[in-house]
Amino acid sequence: MDNQNEITLREELAEATKKLDILMENMPGGVIIYEAKTGKILEVSKSLLDMFGCTEKAFREHYYNCFDLMIYKSDRPRIKDLIEQQMALLTTIEVTFRARDLMGERKFLDFKGKLVTDKNGVQLVYAILSDVSERMLVQQELQRMNETLYMETQRYKLLMEAVDDIPFDYNALLDSVEISLKKNGGTRVVIDDFRRDYRYKNVFSPDTVEQVTQVWDAALMTMKKGSFECKLHLENEKPYEWYRIHFVSFQDKTGRIVRIVGSAKNIMEEKLAEEEMNSRLKQDSMTGLYNKTTMESMVNEFILSSMPTETHALFLIDADNFKAINDNLGHMYGDEVIRFVAKTIRDIFRDSDYVGRIGGDEFMVFMKNATKEVAMNRADALNEAMRKTFEKDGISITISCSIGVALYSKDGADYTTLFTNADACLYEAKRLGKDQSVFCQDF
Ligand code: GH3
Ligand code: MG
Repeated sequence: MDNQNEITLREELAEATKKLDILMENMPGGVIIYEAKTGKILEVSKSLLDMFGCTEKAFREHYYNCFDLMIYKSDRPRIKDLIEQQMALLTTIEVTFRARDLMGERKFLDFKGKLVTDKNGVQLVYAILSDVSERMLVQQELQRMNETLYMETQRYKLLMEAVDDIPFDYNALLDSVEISLKKNGGTRVVIDDFRRDYRYKNVFSPDTVEQVTQVWDAALMTMKKGSFECKLHLENEKPYEWYRIHFVSFQDKTGRIVRIVGSAKNIMEEKLAEEEMNSRLKQDSMTGLYNKTTMESMVNEFILSSMPTETHALFLIDADNFKAINDNLGHMYGDEVIRFVAKTIRDIFRDSDYVGRIGGDEFMVFMKNATKEVAMNRADALNEAMRKTFEKDGISITISCSIGVALYSKDGADYTTLFTNADACLYEAKRLGKDQSVFCQDF
């Protein structure tokens, strides 16, 4: 080779080395060259040092100048194995591993390497390392979210199997709801176009559909968890029944609500028990008539929506000589007589009139839209029906009743005034010798 040629070659080589250096310094990843067998680091690019934020000296010292020590200790045997397997079979080695940087922070590094034999026959690995920590964190987060969702779904399925509820799963993107009917051997019912075609209106009763729509819309806006009660039927021909719906809405990573899952529990029995309890609280347990508090609120409510020109009659009725029944025929017998009195009063008045027991042997009747004549007629009929003799073991006791009547609105435009006036009339009826009625206007 002549001199001129040698100079040209050297220049070309210098030019190529310079280009390579520029590439190495400016590429997004870092370059590392190490001996395949020992891991001894031969070269580290500036971009790799930038990635680790340290000098070459510090880098080499920290990892004892050995590539293997960059890998997490616990991952090292597995990653080394992976690299060696690939070296034996492939031309390119690709692996992602965890490293700790000089500050002890975790980094996920993508490793792309090639095995090269140098002029002395030593096997070297030329590798490009890229920091993929952020991508891995996002991936891990996604995986964690998926796992949580999976766990939630599994947990919810198990729960549903354990209880008698009907699970549902609404897919917001498909606008379809899937319901599993356990009673029919786990039949799955899918209702498509649930919202779009107002299909849900066939499911919920007209008086609850508006409330359901509001709750559903809110759960589709943001992640929500809650419960509400409504009436629904799953088969058109069946009557609506009360259900308690528990629901939770989920969003995907973009924040869009994708699912609403939950369960529907039939609470028909609970509702009936509640109604029964309510009516029991309203009633007198011995006679089944309203109690004093209920009478007061019902009369009050009715009067509030009445015009002063309307007439209603408030009756107070007290059995005469009732103590004599208890004293001579026994308390148990007395209870029977109280039930007789209650039934007699109930039978004399219209179903729409309010009848209540307000004390031991004291009763109240509120006759709606009754003129004084009608009220007097009923009072006479009641006095007649209550004149009755009871007999036991040869002892006979005759009872009757005294009645005081106040008329709305002449004798009072509110409950308290009406009651006070009717009570005064009752007292007057007793004073006059019992077994009669006294109307306010007459005394
Ligand atoms: P009057 O003619 O003046 O009304 O006198 P009375 O004997 O009817 O006695 P009064 O109305 O003053 O009192 C009612 C009595 O009824 C008092 C009590 O012993 C009795 N009594 C109250 N509640 C019950 C009950 O639930 N069962 C029974 N057997 N007796 C009751
Ligand atoms: Mg009495």
